Amino acid sequence: MIDVESIRRDFPILGREVYGKPLVYLDNAATTQKPQCVIDSISDAYRNVNANVHRGVHFLSLEATDMMEAAREKVRQFIGAGSKEEVIFTRGTTESMNLLASSFSRAFIKEGDEVIISGMEHHSNIVPWQLQAERYGFSLKVIPVTDRGELDMEAFSALISARTRLVSITHVSNVLGTVNPVSEIIRIAHSHGIPVAIDGAQGVPHITVNVQSLDADFYAFSGHKIYGPTGIGVLYGRKELLSKMPPYQGGGEMIKKVTFQGTTYNELPYKFEAGTPDYIGSIALAKALDYVSSIGMDIIADYEKSLCDYALERLAAIPGMRFIGSAPERSGVISFLVGDIHPSDMGTLLDRLGIAVRTGHHCAEPLMDRLGIPGTVRASFSFYNTKQEIDALSAGIERVKSMF
Ligand code: PMP
Repeated sequence: MIDVESIRRDFPILGREVYGKPLVYLDNAATTQKPQCVIDSISDAYRNVNANVHRGVHFLSLEATDMMEAAREKVRQFIGAGSKEEVIFTRGTTESMNLLASSFSRAFIKEGDEVIISGMEHHSNIVPWQLQAERYGFSLKVIPVTDRGELDMEAFSALISARTRLVSITHVSNVLGTVNPVSEIIRIAHSHGIPVAIDGAQGVPHITVNVQSLDADFYAFSGHKIYGPTGIGVLYGRKELLSKMPPYQGGGEMIKKVTFQGTTYNELPYKFEAGTPDYIGSIALAKALDYVSSIGMDIIADYEKSLCDYALERLAAIPGMRFIGSAPERSGVISFLVGDIHPSDMGTLLDRLGIAVRTGHHCAEPLMDRLGIPGTVRASFSFYNTKQEIDALSAGIERVKSMF
């Protein structure tokens, strides 16, 4: 069981007021708030151990390096990767997907080949592939989304061809909340010898993820969505594939030897970590992973599901409420529209009541086109949210409705 009142005390920002009202923060899919232990770990690291990693022979540099590598080990354990070499630190999911698209395409994709994505992808799992598709002359095939907001699995099987080189899919939709059947997708793709990449930006913070039991080939996520700092993220990749992929960026740290005649690259994972990494970010991310582990990911998932169920029930009672996405397998996101109130009007007026939600296309414009809507209002939950906050959201929506 979650002791939500005690958890809320760990997050100083949750005690804030906005417009003289208690903050009701329901924009967790965009970014999560940080517990005091994560905030402290950043200032402690700057106060006590700051020095550039991996290059120094002096005490502080060695200590900072050990802490960064311990953070990598923590990530490895958290996502169940087989080895630390398979854990690459990036700036976030977006950079992870760009690294993957760039290096994977260069290593494995030729003109006329195909990459399968889906109709519910975030722009960061669309545009990096478009950039490479233009460069290498491959095409993108898109799994359609059903009216309930699920992937059309029959269509997926039909899209697979002898030219398919990769399937790249979101674990959880940041708009619909749909939890995609990634194990099934991986099983089907692997039966054709095709690797699968998972955008886990909305997966890892809410669901226990084990990349080995999933059998995922790549898995990306962002630190800031799992209570860690901004500017740090992860790309997990299977060693056999990563070792055949060229570096993404060049510079310090990713090399073994540089001459003007040619350069040899460092081993994994450093080959993909050019320049001074955000070692403070890695250290603080490890602290965030310790924090959620101390609560327990399964307990978090159960609590967030109960919040989501409660919210669906409460909001469904509002006349004119229309949910966008009704997949039975869902995680902490509810998108909706009310009557003909524009989502940005709803968001702005809720804000004045102290309620932070997100509005717009949520970086998923093709999905908005598919659904024939300009955008949605999105409430997204964390384990620090309460039923009272959902009551406040429901009352807030009623109040906004009464203004129209
Ligand atoms: N994928 C999904 C499903 C997301 O929700 C997000 C963030 N909204 C991203 C990718 C991009 O994450 P970031 O901005 O942290 O790189």
